Amino acid sequence: MIKKFIRKILGVKPAVQRDINEPVVLGPQEHGIDPKLLSSNAIRVTSSLQEAGFEAFVVGGAVRDLLLGVKPKDFDIATNATPEQVKRLFRRAFIIGKRFQIVHVMFGQDLLEVTTFRGAGADSAPKDEHGRVLRDNTFGPQHEDALRRDFTINAMYYNPATQQVLDYHGGSADIRAKTLRIIGQPEARYREDPVRMLRVVRFAARLKFTIEPGTAAPIAVMAPLINNVPAARVFDEMLKLLMSGHALACLQQLRKEGLHHGLLPLLDVVLEQPLGVKFVTLALDSTDARIAAGKTVSPGFLFASLLWHQVLEKWTAYRAAGEFPIPALHLAADDVLESQTEKLALQRKIGSDMRDIWAMQPRFERRVGKAPQKLLEHPRFRAGYDFLLLRCASGEIDAEIGEWWTAFYDSDEASRDALLASGAAAGAPGAPKKKRPPRRGGRSKLASGGE
Ligand code: ATP
Ligand code: MG
Repeated sequence: MIKKFIRKILGVKPAVQRDINEPVVLGPQEHGIDPKLLSSNAIRVTSSLQEAGFEAFVVGGAVRDLLLGVKPKDFDIATNATPEQVKRLFRRAFIIGKRFQIVHVMFGQDLLEVTTFRGAGADSAPKDEHGRVLRDNTFGPQHEDALRRDFTINAMYYNPATQQVLDYHGGSADIRAKTLRIIGQPEARYREDPVRMLRVVRFAARLKFTIEPGTAAPIAVMAPLINNVPAARVFDEMLKLLMSGHALACLQQLRKEGLHHGLLPLLDVVLEQPLGVKFVTLALDSTDARIAAGKTVSPGFLFASLLWHQVLEKWTAYRAAGEFPIPALHLAADDVLESQTEKLALQRKIGSDMRDIWAMQPRFERRVGKAPQKLLEHPRFRAGYDFLLLRCASGEIDAEIGEWWTAFYDSDEASRDALLASGAAAGAPGAPKKKRPPRRGGRSKLASGGE
């Protein structure tokens, strides 16, 4: 009876009714994990801990990915050793974090996160006035650690030595059913840590899983709680979302769950503005494609793209108020960066990359004399040029400018001179906008940015 009541308040569905203090143990035949997908360093860490007499498992996202047959991008390890005990076992190990203490174990460039099993003492953990847990460093047994994790599919433990998966909350069944289910009572779990709302969206979009109705229902109402989360953490989560390789799907899902509205100024701007949607869609598409191809993505480029149409709008307004184009662009950039920094905590380096990319844009219009060669030597030219191509592809500016720059970029010196001559002949000096008649999809759109 009491158990039934506890299950009820924990939100455990009758279908998965069982003792959540005892894991279901899956052997290699049942889970089918390919041992080749495991990193040798993860095995090194678990076996060192086990040889020292501790329990140690691969945990969380790595187990989920292994069960999905995907090579995990990183391996988290869970153990009953305390952070100090872990640190003593490895040559390069560092205890980090305040809110949630963990140990970073390094092997060359490879970094593994080792966490000590968390206890179920969230009720007594220090919280802010909205119920957000400020610190969570109470240790406990494995079944309590499982209960503190966010989703059933993230709460499984794999022991490489025995090749067994320990599943406390029906995660393997949820993986098969492609379902994201929060552990425990959804409202309470979102209140403890509102970032879980962003996480569920990211996982749903990335894994193409369905959010179980009870897990999805409170999100729209509880979304404003994200306002109380420190900006740096929201930024980290946003970056994970945008770099997940499924950025576009993630943003669409955020919108669907009502998470973009009023809480992340960036997304309000991006998703409520029809003019910018095409541009943003192209930018996120190309980001996703780069990640799929194993290429790097610069956060500065990403955020510069997301906010470009807001910059355009303000740039137009400053020019209409009588500013010269270049100072007007800088003022617009200042405004946009300032309004975003408050909640997103854009790091200084990212902010300066964004500014560089934006400031380069009017310089692409100068296609005579020494200006193009000078621009080509700009240390951030490649980012500025990729950005220009996105503007062309979205129809904001004439495709011909992008084609000219592609040719110029790819050419040797002699062909560059010819291109400069053709640039001059095409009448492409400093300010083409005054000389050209307004054209569909052309630069005139820029000047009327507020539509
Ligand atoms: P990814 O593939 O993006 O790394 P992940 O599930 O591994 O996904 P991490 O942020 O690396 O995500 O977290 C590792 C594990 O820690 C999660 O799988 C989950 O078990 C637990 N976890 C992380 N963040 C939270 C949270 N906010 N609340 C509860 N548990 C969390
Ligand atoms: Mg992870």
